[in-house]
Amino acid sequence: MRDIIKDVASDIKASKYLVVFTGAGISVESGIPAYRGEEGLWSKFDPNLYANITYFLQDSSYYWNFFREVRYPMLKKVKPNKAHLALAELETAGNLKTVITQNIDGLHQEAGSSSVVELHGTTRVIYCLNCSQEYSMDEAFSMLETQIPPLCSEYSMDEAFSMLETQIPPLCSECNGKLRPAVVFFGESLNPQVLRLAFEEAENCDFLLAVGSSLVVHPAADIPRIAKQRGAALAIINKQKTPLDTIADYVINDEAGKILPRIVQSLKDG
Ligand SMILES: [Zn+2]
Repeated sequence: MRDIIKDVASDIKASKYLVVFTGAGISVESGIPAYRGEEGLWSKFDPNLYANITYFLQDSSYYWNFFREVRYPMLKKVKPNKAHLALAELETAGNLKTVITQNIDGLHQEAGSSSVVELHGTTRVIYCLNCSQEYSMDEAFSMLETQIPPLCSEYSMDEAFSMLETQIPPLCSECNGKLRPAVVFFGESLNPQVLRLAFEEAENCDFLLAVGSSLVVHPAADIPRIAKQRGAALAIINKQKTPLDTIADYVINDEAGKILPRIVQSLKDG
């Protein structure tokens, strides 16, 4: 029987320009919930309120409450998993040029990857809409925190609650401008420079490994397709089938955290 892990590893070894494309699936294995599907974040938090730029600019309280209650505690808890670590190891060993990711959680960098293109931005950087001053996630969180509790005198429960509410959003300490996360919201275009860089990498690579992505969100999912059209080999590791399975050279329907360390090991052995 053909050993698909060995075959992928030997193709990677022979390749001159390996690019990896990752989606939500790789982060799910770290305990970050998916966005779509019954258990997905968007089934609990309406993306029109929590992740839409038009709504955010009108009233960012949904986003910042979500950041404080859900996003920040989750990101403080999660760690890169074996798949993230395997990709960082591939880069260190000189086998991997770039990771292009749809994820906004920064786990590739935390695992040690240095060449990462974040198509949808990052939730770990917060910046001022007025002067562009950047803040870390911790800084933004502490701004929210220090505005609690409401101060002074006696108030009704309703009054106290409304004080808490009005102290969102966090404000820039330089200019008092409103802050926003460096993520691409619904209703916004992907950053054209970032997108161009991703497409260039897709055109340059001779091996494209797609990991943990259902490959249905455009234009991100066009990256593996372009790579394949330009003559690169395409391998897909995803628990579910994808629309690009039919054009891929290798399809492995399994967890990235199980498969990628085996590929790395096979590279070492071979
Ligand atoms: Zn500012």
